[in-house]
Amino acid sequence: MKIKGKLYVSLGVLVAMVLAMVVISSYFLYQLSSDTRNILKANYNSLEYCRNMELALNQGLDNPDNVKLFRDNLWKQEKNITEPGEARITELLKIDFENIGKSISPEKLLVQARKGISDIMLLNMEAIKRKTSATQTSNGNAVFVVSLVGVICVLISFTLLVNLPGNIANPISELTQSIKEIARENYDKRLHFEGKNEFGELAKAFNAMAMKLDSYRTANLEKLLEEKTRIETLINNMADPVIGLNEGFGLIFMNDAASQVTGLTREKVIGKNVQDIAISNDLVRVLVRDLFELQTAKPPVKTAPIKIYADGKESYFERELIPISIEDAKGATQLIGHVILLKNITPFKELDFAKTNFIATVSHELKTPLSAIQMSVNLLHNKKVGELNAEQNNLISGIGEDASRLLKITSELLNVTQLESGLMQLNIGSSDAREIMNYAILANKTAAEQKAIRMKVDVSGELKVKSDSEKMICVLSNLISNAIRYSYDNSEVELKVEPRGDMVAFLVTDYGQGIAPQYVPRIFDRYFRVPGSKKEGTGLGLSISKELVEAQGGKIELQTDFGSGSTFTVLLPVV
Ligand code: ADP
Repeated sequence: MKIKGKLYVSLGVLVAMVLAMVVISSYFLYQLSSDTRNILKANYNSLEYCRNMELALNQGLDNPDNVKLFRDNLWKQEKNITEPGEARITELLKIDFENIGKSISPEKLLVQARKGISDIMLLNMEAIKRKTSATQTSNGNAVFVVSLVGVICVLISFTLLVNLPGNIANPISELTQSIKEIARENYDKRLHFEGKNEFGELAKAFNAMAMKLDSYRTANLEKLLEEKTRIETLINNMADPVIGLNEGFGLIFMNDAASQVTGLTREKVIGKNVQDIAISNDLVRVLVRDLFELQTAKPPVKTAPIKIYADGKESYFERELIPISIEDAKGATQLIGHVILLKNITPFKELDFAKTNFIATVSHELKTPLSAIQMSVNLLHNKKVGELNAEQNNLISGIGEDASRLLKITSELLNVTQLESGLMQLNIGSSDAREIMNYAILANKTAAEQKAIRMKVDVSGELKVKSDSEKMICVLSNLISNAIRYSYDNSEVELKVEPRGDMVAFLVTDYGQGIAPQYVPRIFDRYFRVPGSKKEGTGLGLSISKELVEAQGGKIELQTDFGSGSTFTVLLPVV
């Protein structure tokens, strides 16, 4: 039966029982009141009439009022005959009463009349007694019937009380439980409600839903597994080594190329913390360096090439640390792991080596004849060799300038090749900052004079720095040379040396054109020149200076205001 039907029937039964109780109780109450009324009407009134008649007799019938009282009550008694034999006695009483008035000695008749009244009273009193007992019996029956119906009502109500809430609430709580299980992704949960009521239909619908979810999950799992296998195959077939880590730095994947260069067996390291692996593997230790500081917001980090012995030869790899982040439901970025990518740059490195070798050889080979040319030009200027006319002098000066420019270029190229191949030798020791600055100024004195540029020098006190003084003179000389070259004629170049914490700062300030902001990040790149620069140059000076300063444990910085000039600052550690 349906739940709705069950509720209708149960509540209907309760209403019917209450109705039955009301009808039965009303019936018995009515019976009781009508019995009482009958007794009152039939017997009690007769007693009242008899009592009045007796009163009239006692007061004497010679008084016409008493005669009237007797006659009236006798008349009422005649109309209220209810018991068997009562009519006869009343009849005799009436005859006696009639004769009392006519008789000369009515004593005997009065006695007879009194007896008649007493008989009527007795008859009615017995009737009252009888009827009262009959009413008591029917009262007892009424109590029994009402109690019986009451007990039945209570029993039925109790049965409904015990069963009905459970019948409705139990399936609902089982359903709630099952829905919670489904929410926990336990799609095996099924409902088993018997019967064809609403709960049965609900169970059928629920089971169908759970089955669909289960099959959907299985299909999804298969799809995910297929996708996972595809991605794993792709990563495994990548020529570049790739290592994947989760947010707790546990190793989650590693392709064949990575296990080849690291010498690790994939099965042995998957799931392990990369810090534990790094303890016993030098290469992994290098690979995970500065990984732990890497945050979500930062872009992939590239570091200097790593030299690894792979494929039977020395190979070069560029390491890229890529933080992997996802956006959660609230739109916040969450770091879920890192990918370490090693790009094999060996072919480029080999080409680079060949280029460096070539430049080194050419610069070296050019340097000797160029020096000879410069020396010969100087000799030609000497009057002892012979007198030159003005035109010849001009030509020789031009040759001399070109030769010294070529010499500058070749020595810059040689410096670059030495820095690239790591052959640059540094003699680091304690040097006097003022002396370094003075030598660099001296080297640029003529150039400044040619452009009428004043050099304002400000060196505060005696400052000792840790550096290779020869290389530092080159660096500062290059910065001062640039400041002069990119300044307007008849302007000023400021040169300052001052202490800055545990460093000494060398500042070279000019009031020339300055550098446009978009070129500032590339200004220290090799071969970079600001587009449209009319001065001659190779774009190597600043990059060589930067490498030389950093090799000595220092820093080089640029502050520039496009249109008003620039300040290059070199910071070197104090001794
Ligand atoms: P270059 O031999 O071209 O001077 P550098 O490496 O010394 O090479 O300088 C690179 C570029 O930086 C120059 O081409 C020039 O455009 C710019 N530059 C360097 N110093 C200054 C300066 N003081 N003021 C303006 N531009 C400068």
